[in-house]
Amino acid sequence: MLRSSDGLGEQEHPRVLALELPEPGGPPARVVLELVQPSAADLPSHSDGSPPSRRAAGVSGAGATPHLEALQRIADENGGNRASPGPGYDASVQYAVDLLEAAGYDVSTPAYPLPKRLRRRSGESHCRNVLAQTRTGDPRRVVVVGAHLDSVRKGPGINDNGSGVSALLEIATRLGGSPPVRNAVRFAFWGSEEDDLEGSLHYVKTLSRSDRDDILVYINVDMIASSNAGYFVLGGEGKSRKKFGPPGSAQVACVLVEQLAATGVVARTVPLDRESDYAAFIDAGVPSGGVMTGDRGKKTGKQARRWGGQAGERFDPQYHTPRDRLDKLDHTALDRFTRALAGAVAHFAMSTGSRGPG
Ligand SMILES: [Zn+2]
Repeated sequence: MLRSSDGLGEQEHPRVLALELPEPGGPPARVVLELVQPSAADLPSHSDGSPPSRRAAGVSGAGATPHLEALQRIADENGGNRASPGPGYDASVQYAVDLLEAAGYDVSTPAYPLPKRLRRRSGESHCRNVLAQTRTGDPRRVVVVGAHLDSVRKGPGINDNGSGVSALLEIATRLGGSPPVRNAVRFAFWGSEEDDLEGSLHYVKTLSRSDRDDILVYINVDMIASSNAGYFVLGGEGKSRKKFGPPGSAQVACVLVEQLAATGVVARTVPLDRESDYAAFIDAGVPSGGVMTGDRGKKTGKQARRWGGQAGERFDPQYHTPRDRLDKLDHTALDRFTRALAGAVAHFAMSTGSRGPG
């Protein structure tokens, strides 16, 4: 069960969201991100112009789809994959950087050293992550949302993790680089996740203590369009801190579950493991959570009754194969997760809560 006895649970009621649920047979589902404008005194002095009393952005899975198509094209043009280091990865970096810069973010591509065992194929000694931060919001209170940008060498990685990347690009471009938010929002696109999480581990390890302490929450997005999708929220479950996450993680999971519920689906919470980029944030004591639609695991009968799809089959039969392509995605899952993540980002971007103790 979820607990909410930590610091982030004490924040004021979110004044952020309105959800427009899809009408059956109606137009595509939209989430309206209502970033209710704070009182004039709260507004960051460097906020752009004077937005109307609220800024609305229609975020949807359909909006993420052009990014998925671009990532598929990049893989097709670069030997069938987007693995880091490699030309398909470099092209993915460039694609994300161009979009985020055009949307008005502060964008950087900090390098991380590649361990010797990863250098053989290309001779490169470094690779890059992509970080994009809003110019508004308190930079000492940062909401970080991350997805790994690399694929395995065996395939194009369109579900794993083109889906997470595309959802973040959709949210980031709709939100824009100068939204009227209380806390800064930082979108992270990690390299070398498929090689022992090198990109995110190095990034967190080399942040100063105070930069680490400025991170309010970390939300990880790794596979959200598996063809036999499950609806999993990671964090706030399990007895050990490694599985449960640092204090505050239950609140992150809670918000993700609530936001998914608003799209019409009941998610299942599961413990964190060390299998994606949240590992470094957990080690640093940052309240963390994540979402995923599943990979090698098989869907149970109960899960198939709850979520649809095929019982006894893997969540993603294409996982880590050349078949992880554009034509194998569950677009309903992609849409629900994209909208739920937009809601969670908006929620934490307006949060007045502090990090949980410790
Ligand atoms: Zn992945």
